[in-house]
Amino acid sequence: MNQVIAGVQVALTLGLAYWVQEHTSLGLRYWIDWPDWLEFIIVILLMDLVVYGTHVLHHRIPLLWKFHRAHHSDHFVDASTAFRFHPGEVITTTFLQTIAFGTLGIGVSHAITYFILIHLITPFHHSNIRISETVDRFLRCVIVSPLMHRVHHSDIRTEHDHNYSNVFSCWDFLFRTYLKRDNKTLTYGVNELPEQRWQKLPGIYATPIAEFLKPSP
Ligand SMILES: [Zn+2]
Ligand SMILES: [Zn+2]
Repeated sequence: MNQVIAGVQVALTLGLAYWVQEHTSLGLRYWIDWPDWLEFIIVILLMDLVVYGTHVLHHRIPLLWKFHRAHHSDHFVDASTAFRFHPGEVITTTFLQTIAFGTLGIGVSHAITYFILIHLITPFHHSNIRISETVDRFLRCVIVSPLMHRVHHSDIRTEHDHNYSNVFSCWDFLFRTYLKRDNKTLTYGVNELPEQRWQKLPGIYATPIAEFLKPSP
């Protein structure tokens, strides 16, 4: 189901990028006359900033969090967690990002490059590969590293409300949402959903209405 929705999201963004490129004068190239390579880098960075912003909204707005916590309720973070999203979140994310990407005037080459980047780096920073602190520190100077993103899956709310970046790590440094934390004592999940039933597919899909399904104390 999620693969179908993700496919629709990619197709929608590529279609939008093509339409914006061919039929509108939206985009940075119409605002400032700068070299193509510089515009390309800035648009890719701005797309990543949009993804950072929509991620923050899914933590700060209670209704959006009810969908996004399906990603956080995983007790074993690995590469598969990168694909664990509630369909409702895929829809809200697509809606918000489509508006922002359209306004930015992204082109087809921007959309393809960014989708390749995000689909390579997101499974990587969710993976449970062993990586030394030194290598990780080097990586997180540029991209989101595994040690950095694992803190985002801490079951402590004040910890998982940090490290929102997806591809480039700079947004957490810039907006002061970066948190460094020893990974060895981390436990993953969401405190309000400790039961095993939220790990199975029906439970993941029912996550937004979990409070209604729990027996009264
Ligand atoms: Zn999150
Ligand atoms: Zn994650």
